[in-house]
Amino acid sequence: MADLNPAPKGKTFVVEHLDPELEEWSSLEYSTIAAESHAAGAQFLLSSVPTSLKVPKNLQEAKGLNVETRGIEEIYAQSKDRVCLLDPAASKELSPEDGDTFDVFLFGGILGDDPPRDRTSELRKKGYQGRRLGPVQMTTDTAVRVTRIVVQDRVAVDKIPYIDNPEVRVSKNETTEMPFRYVKGEDGQPIMPKGMVDLIKKDSEKGLGDLL
Ligand code: SAM
Repeated sequence: MADLNPAPKGKTFVVEHLDPELEEWSSLEYSTIAAESHAAGAQFLLSSVPTSLKVPKNLQEAKGLNVETRGIEEIYAQSKDRVCLLDPAASKELSPEDGDTFDVFLFGGILGDDPPRDRTSELRKKGYQGRRLGPVQMTTDTAVRVTRIVVQDRVAVDKIPYIDNPEVRVSKNETTEMPFRYVKGEDGQPIMPKGMVDLIKKDSEKGLGDLL
């Protein structure tokens, strides 16, 4: 039987890349966003990527990824009011109804930092309407995942299960705390890009190497 009231699908998620480089960490996050968007019938646009920047191979091959050298203002010059900036400093929380108000959801392509340096302000200055995803900083792929669940699956932000500041085991005797909020997966673990735990381990070994 036909669904008479289908939830609107097919939103566009834009990550405006704000770093001069494209580190392995970002590359894992972006390829995960591409794969999940593709599977959910959404578009993923990685914007403002300088032509001089070498896009890593795993990312070049990611299904569902559209790389744009233009920035958000140029791409959506005619429809600014349909763009929503996901902004940790916004006064309004994202709601499922925002799926009717906006077609495009914009995120800062910034690595998480602790304490947060508010680099999302670079996008806030452009004057888009902003929405918050709760009070805790998320990684960029988590922020896109949560937004998709809210506006496409129509689940309220505070009904999504989360894990805050998970510990990742980096060696037999050591763990490292990730100072971010993640979505809790069906296995009870925080959802992270494939390969991220190995990268965290590698980085923590490097950190130790620097001290030796
Ligand atoms: N430390 C940060 C900063 O400098 O703004 C936060 C960067 S966060 C890793 C990357 C992006 O995810 C942000 O630019 C924002 O678009 C989105 N984001 C993360 N947590 C969020 C939250 N709680 N509410 C709204 N957006 C969030």
